[in-house]
Amino acid sequence: MATPQDILAWINNENIELIDLKFIDTPGIWQHLTLHKSQIDESSFTEGVAFDGSSIRGWKSINESDMAMVPDPDTAWIDPFMEHKTLSMVCSIIEPRTGQPYSRDPRSIAQKAIAFLQTTGLGDTAFFGPEAEFFIFDDVRYDQNQHEGYYHVDSNEGTWNSGRVEPGGNLGYKPRNKEGYFPVAPTDTSQDMRSEMLLTMAKCGVPIEKHHHEVATGGQCELGIKFGTLVQAADWLMTYKYVIKNVARKYGKSITFMPKPVFGDNGSGMHCHQSIWNNGQPTFAGDMYAGLSQTALWYIGGILKHAPSLLAFTNPTTNSYKRLVPGFEAPVNLAYSQGNRSASVRIPLSGTNPKAKRLEFRCPDATSNPYLAFAAMLCAGIDGIKNQIDPGSPLDVDIYELSPEELAKVPSTPGSLAEALKNLETDHAYLTLGGVFTEDFIESWISYKLDREVIPMSIRPHPYEFML
Ligand code: GLU
Ligand code: MG
Ligand code: MG
Repeated sequence: MATPQDILAWINNENIELIDLKFIDTPGIWQHLTLHKSQIDESSFTEGVAFDGSSIRGWKSINESDMAMVPDPDTAWIDPFMEHKTLSMVCSIIEPRTGQPYSRDPRSIAQKAIAFLQTTGLGDTAFFGPEAEFFIFDDVRYDQNQHEGYYHVDSNEGTWNSGRVEPGGNLGYKPRNKEGYFPVAPTDTSQDMRSEMLLTMAKCGVPIEKHHHEVATGGQCELGIKFGTLVQAADWLMTYKYVIKNVARKYGKSITFMPKPVFGDNGSGMHCHQSIWNNGQPTFAGDMYAGLSQTALWYIGGILKHAPSLLAFTNPTTNSYKRLVPGFEAPVNLAYSQGNRSASVRIPLSGTNPKAKRLEFRCPDATSNPYLAFAAMLCAGIDGIKNQIDPGSPLDVDIYELSPEELAKVPSTPGSLAEALKNLETDHAYLTLGGVFTEDFIESWISYKLDREVIPMSIRPHPYEFML
């Protein structure tokens, strides 16, 4: 654990001139403010650094705009993308008048989720391990008149496709859809970029594990990072996105975490591995199904029961629901299973070590705000444990192979963001009971998503409509 004194000593000893303070807005994008070193002292870590919060999406109105951001010393690293030596820290937001966490600050909501877990006596720590997939596309900030050769309309499907087609070149090393996992170079064209992304992340304090191409062609990739405690894992995931996007930029590429950018190929998920620990002991290991404990099965019960509303946080964009369709390794049915990747909750093989026992919720995608998504999943799981929600029998068959009659018995994920938001309207007591989310936040989330995303999307003509 770093202290404010450690950070101030670091700034002095390393001749750091600038401090970049980052915080997350409601939809899940980092915002930032850069201070000269003269502007930071010990009080910055308690009273925070003042800023105007009125223009932050989903936050305060203009007549009550004073906010303060409080840097977390444990999140400090030297920003590798800034030319002038700059120390970066992630902040939570407080109300300057009361010193209380701001109720719409996603990072504060995540901190409250852990505090709530601790009050229940069920555990003191929740671990999360997100696996965020993404696509690398050619950066199209170029002369729009010269776009032939970069994007082409696939005449069979009538959709914009993302494959780069070299003018006059051949497609010898271009894999077909769903064959991107994972031939070596020259088919794999992003090896060096991914290595740079991974090693840069390590410099930013994220414990790294691996990187690889993913199943979709056209540059779908995934980098592996270690699991962390709830807030830490969300901080790392934001660093993950920041580093990946900025390294790609250097290579003239851009990144999208959009769940379904390419029709007909796999989408990008953010499977979330999770477990609860108490006093240094794992609570999910036991002698029930797949080596799980009763606690873990009830946790799954909570996730599956609340999934129809939970997805409003874990899959919060209109595009999210274009990924949740059969045939692309994305979950469609609300069921659990050991090993079966077509179930929305999977219990990965974890050997004999009880400490590795965890479950993987496969629905989430990386358009979610990780602080809100992790907090919401934990609340659903806690609700499952407290109310002893039975997850039913596991589904140990390939769900995609079931007959329509058998399939009809398995509940499905919501079909659209509008549906998930509607479910959230009626099912959110599990989020507000422990004081983690406020009613005000849930209401503002629903109206933000409806007014800024669902409705504007539904009234715009879509390219495919020209094909009908
Ligand atoms: N891309 C798949 C998804 O949408 C997951 C592939 C995998 O299992 O890593 O969830
Ligand atoms: Mg993957
Ligand atoms: Mg996975």
